[in-house]
Amino acid sequence: MKKVAKSQDKKPPVKSPVVTVMGHVDHGKTLLLDAIRDTDVVASEKGGITQHIGAYKIKTKGGEITFIDTPGHEAFTAMRARGAKATDIVVLVVAASEGVMPQTVEAINHAKSAEVPIIVAINKIDLPEANPDRVKKQLMEHGLLDEKLGGTTLFCEVSAKKKKGLKELLSTILLEAEMLELQSNPKKPAEGVVIEAKIDKGRGPVATVLIQDGTLRLKDIFVANSNIAKVRAMFDDSGESIKEAGPSTPVEVLGFSFLAKAGDTFKVISENQAREIEKKSKEQVGPEFVLPKLTLETLFARIEKKEIKELPLIIKADVTGTKEAICTSLEKLSFSKKARLVIIHSGVGSILESDIMLAKSANGMVIGFNIKPEARIKMLAEKEAVKIYTYDVIYKLIEDIEKATLGLLPPEYREKAVGRAVVKQVFKIKKELIAGCLIEGGKAQKGAKARVIRLNNIIGEGSVSSLKRFKEDVSEVKTGLECGISLDGINDIKEADAIEMFIKEEVK
Ligand code: GDP
Repeated sequence: MKKVAKSQDKKPPVKSPVVTVMGHVDHGKTLLLDAIRDTDVVASEKGGITQHIGAYKIKTKGGEITFIDTPGHEAFTAMRARGAKATDIVVLVVAASEGVMPQTVEAINHAKSAEVPIIVAINKIDLPEANPDRVKKQLMEHGLLDEKLGGTTLFCEVSAKKKKGLKELLSTILLEAEMLELQSNPKKPAEGVVIEAKIDKGRGPVATVLIQDGTLRLKDIFVANSNIAKVRAMFDDSGESIKEAGPSTPVEVLGFSFLAKAGDTFKVISENQAREIEKKSKEQVGPEFVLPKLTLETLFARIEKKEIKELPLIIKADVTGTKEAICTSLEKLSFSKKARLVIIHSGVGSILESDIMLAKSANGMVIGFNIKPEARIKMLAEKEAVKIYTYDVIYKLIEDIEKATLGLLPPEYREKAVGRAVVKQVFKIKKELIAGCLIEGGKAQKGAKARVIRLNNIIGEGSVSSLKRFKEDVSEVKTGLECGISLDGINDIKEADAIEMFIKEEVK
C-alpha cells in the first residue's frame, strides 16, 4: 500500500519529446531542421559548432526537444521495422506553394501506422504562390483536420527560409508532448536506439544512440543486436566529451565492437548478464532464414488461432485508375468477422524499399498490380520476411484474398536461398555454356534452382546441372571459392551476371 501511495506522490520525470521531420522531397525538411537548430540558445553560446551525429537536442524556454536529423521516411521505417519506437511526434512538412504530394501521403501513412501523432508545418509561406488554406483542405481528405476547425491535428505556418513561425512550431511541439504525457526515469540503466553508425578511420566503430530511458554513463556495459560492448567515450551533438546522458539525449558512443545498424536497440546490462549473453550466443546457431511474418496461405490459420486480427496491405499499381479500383473492391470485401483488412498505404509505381519496410513494421504484406518487383527489392523482402504478391487480373487478387480468409488456398512454396555467384568468365565446351564463377554468399549446390540476373533484371530461370572445381565434379562449393557452373534451361549468360541459387519448399 505504501508503495502505491509513494508512486502517486512522485510522478516519474517528464521526458522531452523526440521529433522526426517528414514530408515530400524539396518541401523544406532539411532547411527547417537547420533553422530550428539555429534557434538553440545554448549551441549558439558555445560558438555554434555543431557536429552531425544524426540527431540534436535544443533548449527552448518551454523545454527541450530532440530532433532526428535525418529527414525522410527511410530512417523512420528502418527503425520501426526493427521494433524501435524512436519518435514521439512527426512534424509533417508541406510546402504551401505545392500542397500535398505523393510522399506527403506516404508520410501520413507511416506516422498513422506507427500511431505517432502528426503536427503539420505548412512551409514556404513567404512565397507569393503560398496557399495554406488549400493545403489544409487537401489534408482533410487524409484525415488531418485542424484543431481550430474541430479536428485533432495541430497546424503551424512557417518559413524555414525566413525563419518565421519557428517559435510557434516549437511551442506547438511542446504542447503536443505535454498532451502525450511522455515519461522517463533517469535513474534506470540506459535503454535506447541506434540512429546512425559508421566505422571511423581513427576511432573504429562509432554509433549515435538516442537514449530513450535511463542514463548512460562512461564504462557502462551494453548489448545491441546481441553484441556486447562498453562505453569508452561519449560526445554530445556539439562534439563535447560528456560523462553521462539522460533520456531523449542523442550521444555519439565510442566502444562498439561491431558496426551497429540504425534501429538496433541498445540496453545497459550488468556484468553477469553480459557473461550469460556471451555464453548463449556461443551455443546458439541462428536460423538460416526467416519465415515471412504474414502470408495469404497461412492467414486463415493465424486468424483462427487468434494470432492476428488484421490483414495490413500495401497496394502498388501501375496506374491510378487500377489502384483505386483495387482499393474499392478490397474495401467492399466482406472480410472474416474475426479479422479486418486494412490498406495502410496505396500508391502508383514500382515497389520501393520503403514499402517493404512499412509492411514489415506493420506486420503486413505488399501487393503489386501489373508491376514486378526488382531483384533488389525481392531480396530485401526475403531478408525482412515480407511477402510480396503480384497480380495482373483484379478478380484473381480479390478471389485469392477471399479464399485466404476461408483457408482455401493451396499450400505455398517458398524459395529458400542457397547462394549467390558472380560470373567472371563464360566458356563454351561442346555447345554447353559454362560459367566460371565466384561464390559470393551461401554456396553453390548441384540440382538447386537458379536464375540469372543482369542489371537487376531476371534473364532466365533453370537449374544447376553440374558443378566443377578444377575439372572435378562436385556437389557443393562454398562462399569465397571459384567454380564452373552449368545451367539447365538457360542459354544466355554473360560476364558480370549474377546467378541466384535457391530451392523450393512447402511453407507449413
Ligand atoms: P527537403 O528535400 O524537404 O529536405 O527540402 P530542402 O530543405 O532541401 O529544401 C528544398 C528547397 O526549398 C531549397 O532550395 C530550399 O532553399 C527551399 N526552401 C525550403 N524552405 C523554404 C521556405 O520556407 N521558403 C522558400 N522560399 N524556400 C524554401
